[in-house]
Amino acid sequence: MFLTDDINICNPVTIVLPKVLFLMKNISSLCVFCGSRFGNDPAYEETARELGAVIADKGIRLVYGGGSIGLMGVVANAVMENGGEVIGVIPQFLDEMEIGKPDLTKLIITNNMHDRKHKMFDLSDGFISLPGGLGTLDETFEILTWKQLQVHTKPVIILDVAGYWTELLGLIDSVISKGFADQRIKGIYQVAHNTTEVFAFLDAAPEPQFKPYPDNL
Ligand code: AMP
Repeated sequence: MFLTDDINICNPVTIVLPKVLFLMKNISSLCVFCGSRFGNDPAYEETARELGAVIADKGIRLVYGGGSIGLMGVVANAVMENGGEVIGVIPQFLDEMEIGKPDLTKLIITNNMHDRKHKMFDLSDGFISLPGGLGTLDETFEILTWKQLQVHTKPVIILDVAGYWTELLGLIDSVISKGFADQRIKGIYQVAHNTTEVFAFLDAAPEPQFKPYPDNL
């Protein structure tokens, strides 16, 4: 925990309060996977904005897919608006399609989608999945399968906003009950229902251990 130079001034009596950043053990950088669309429940966007604000308040760097559209743009803007750092990682061909955000702390352009995911993995101490589409599913499952193979032990949090991930979590249960995965895979991710739970899980997460890729992948 440390104090910044920022101050909040409350009226009518002027009280000067230092803004306090609660730095989390083991977590200086978080990757957020989320939709390049907004979805049709306002709760998705509200939670994305709140998550970005809390990430910035905690002095954590955001790593994400670098786009300016949908929930991706909402999270990135919320971090930037609250004085945080954002690293976007986007492949060349998507830079124009997803309108790569030019105002980030840093935008890394990769040659392809696989390099993008490796880079995002490399730069991040943990992963949070907000609601999203096929890209979000792909990113979430890739990071989970690497964890299942013990390539890493970084925390993976599924943020189940307004029950968005109910069917996915049910599918994982079905995969286990039908004999295609061990019950223990339920221990490689955690399901949060709000941002407070996300950071409680991250705070309790053990220090990540991982073997460097690409040897293990
Ligand atoms: P979506 O959840 O489909 O809206 O996509 C969210 C993010 O995932 C965007 O940055 C997409 O570029 C990315 N994405 C889409 N398809 C894939 C894929 N097959 N592999 C990795 N990332 C993807």
